[in-house]
Amino acid sequence: MIEKLLIANRGEIALRILRACRELGIKTVAVHSEADRDLKPVLLADESVCIGPAPSSESYLNVPAIISAAEVTDTVAIHPGYGFLSENADFAERVERSGFIFVGPKPETIRLMGDKVSAIRAMKEAGVPCVPGSDGPLDDNRKHTLALAREIGYPVIIKAAGGGGGRGMRVVHSEASLLNAIALTRAEAAAAFGNDTVYMEKYLERPRHVEFQLMADTQGNAIHLGERDCSMQRRHQKVVEEAPAPGITEAQRRTIGERCAEACRRIGYRGVGTFEFLYEDGEFYFIEMNTRVQVEHPVTEMVTGVDIVKEQILIAAGEPLRYRQEDIQLRGHAIECRLNAEHPETFLPSPGRIREFHAPGGPGIRLETHIYSGYTVPPHYDSMIGKLIAHGEDRRSAIARLCNALRETVIDGIHTNLPLQRRILTDAVFQKGGANIHYLEKKLGM
Ligand code: ADP
Repeated sequence: MIEKLLIANRGEIALRILRACRELGIKTVAVHSEADRDLKPVLLADESVCIGPAPSSESYLNVPAIISAAEVTDTVAIHPGYGFLSENADFAERVERSGFIFVGPKPETIRLMGDKVSAIRAMKEAGVPCVPGSDGPLDDNRKHTLALAREIGYPVIIKAAGGGGGRGMRVVHSEASLLNAIALTRAEAAAAFGNDTVYMEKYLERPRHVEFQLMADTQGNAIHLGERDCSMQRRHQKVVEEAPAPGITEAQRRTIGERCAEACRRIGYRGVGTFEFLYEDGEFYFIEMNTRVQVEHPVTEMVTGVDIVKEQILIAAGEPLRYRQEDIQLRGHAIECRLNAEHPETFLPSPGRIREFHAPGGPGIRLETHIYSGYTVPPHYDSMIGKLIAHGEDRRSAIARLCNALRETVIDGIHTNLPLQRRILTDAVFQKGGANIHYLEKKLGM
């Protein structure tokens, strides 16, 4: 078993990992920047090491400093959380070469999935449904490219193979602008990702975002934990997530879930991961895989009863999966609201000191946050300060519980998106379920 684990992250996910370690009897090392000395997981960890100044480029992304911290503390494993270095294949490689366990997939798997063209190819081979498209990089043959777009049908979307975070994409509505759009996306991709490979897909006009949670061990076993709907987005950032996805049938869940599990077996996937799909008119279209734990993992935990972070650590320790597919039964419905330190109307970040904080409670309520009364939210990082999750016997009861909890929550001293979340949860279209990825921005008048 792993005796000591270093948490290479901050905020609520660092706390989440720390709690899983405590439960497993694993000692923890929290690394932190100079701005995070008073961070809750730093105060609670068995040991802590300052790895650099506030900017993440000098601390949470500082690979040599993190490796040194692991060495001086006799760490066994390193958990990258999400964001920061979690999908950086070079980091995973450095961790393993330095003799530590990386809590995540093999570096070559991260690399394979980090390139969208190779990821799509691997998924197709495994029978995972993908968006109709170029089946590989676009070349310089204009005639060929024009014919391909005509065959796919406009609108199409040009995407960078190395893209991420919603960047490196361009929608094309007609043939007149196709070649120019490809050239522009190529140039941008070369500058932003150091890789000018681009590919083409059919542009789906009103899809939902539905993703599957997977779990695979080093013995070749893989299972799925069902799906989540994350269609409530603003600027490609998820705002509300839920499990299961409204309207998805047991048969669809079984078919797509099993294809994803099969893909994991084929590529020798290790750890937890998410297959992201666009879902339109009853069809699933794979867009990308995330090779790490996700922000929204708790909704799946609430409906399956599986502790995803604990399982992730056990898999990294070499344990076989403790669940078989038939052990996974969905119970009720869970919804998560991301809590951000930002102005509810302008969305501008709102760092500062939290004067007073009152946590909500009651049946089925779960709060994942590192904040406390007197805590100062630093201006250097992502504005997410926590997640509020409600579980109920059905979707209606989950919504009712989450509405109550949002009403009870008090965070004084900074602006938060609590008012926005209350608006979303009481919105008639949200309450009906199944809104597409453009709904929230439309509602907000963007
Ligand atoms: P990133 O890695 O940058 O997040 P994704 O491939 O996951 O890129 O796409 C991000 C978002 O872009 C999707 O959630 C969706 O809103 C939009 N998108 C991507 N591909 C398509 C497509 N073929 N049709 C419609 N929208 C798309």
